[in-house]
Amino acid sequence: MKTIAIANQKGGVGKTTTAVNLATALAASGAKVLLVDFDPQGNASTGLGVAREARSPSSYEILSEPERLQEAVRPTMVPGLSILPATQELAGAEVELVGAANAGGRLRAALEGATGFDWCFIDCPPSLGLLTLNGLAAADRILIPLQAEFYALEGLSQLLRTVEQVKLRSNPGLDLAGVVLTMYDRRNNLSEAVAADVRAALGSRVFETIIPRNVRLSEAPSHGLPALLYDLRCPGSEAYLALAREFANMV
Ligand code: ADP
Ligand code: MG
Repeated sequence: MKTIAIANQKGGVGKTTTAVNLATALAASGAKVLLVDFDPQGNASTGLGVAREARSPSSYEILSEPERLQEAVRPTMVPGLSILPATQELAGAEVELVGAANAGGRLRAALEGATGFDWCFIDCPPSLGLLTLNGLAAADRILIPLQAEFYALEGLSQLLRTVEQVKLRSNPGLDLAGVVLTMYDRRNNLSEAVAADVRAALGSRVFETIIPRNVRLSEAPSHGLPALLYDLRCPGSEAYLALAREFANMV
């Protein structure tokens, strides 16, 4: 199983949208995929139609009871895609785990019990706290969504420094899968300028595929559906299918 943390400490940059739709696209191509919702907001769980009352045991419980992983992982309406849902209790883990043994390695330990998957995606919360550190410690690669907006690159160096620290301390194999530009607006010159800046700064670490701003991508979660099931032909779905092809060839 290859494990990919989808992380960026900024909120609203497309982490969850990328997690749900990239995971769905890979499952549609025949892979067995596990999506770990690791944000107390539970947006990935909502986006995949998991009712709030059906989210326990969740990614919270498995941090202290790793043996419950199998029980906590459940199928979704997407064939081949399973989810480990999140509840708001997960926010408490940031505090409860401080000072506890192996505080940063709990998710990694629990995921050792995940069998039969080709890919695991971890949808991280918008912070560089203990939850994201757990996500990075559990991952082989980190995928960073960057919103094609003026401040896109701000904060990236801090994120990359955090990746270096996790490599040194606990996970030497951690590597960058790449940066994906999201919410790109063709009619906005700024998007184009930001994309050029990001490519100048990061070169080949930026995926060729760019995710356009597309209202269908933002409508889909309110129906509890990945965009690929909500509207397979919309530009957002097509972009995530292209990203999945590029990603699977590269990682
Ligand atoms: P994050 O997980 O980084 O906080 P989300 O994936 O939840 O970001 O995206 C933030 C908001 O923007 C959500 O309402 C989502 O539906 C919307 N959104 C994400 N990507 C796009 C896109 N490419 N086009 C339009 N809306 C998007
Ligand atoms: Mg999110």
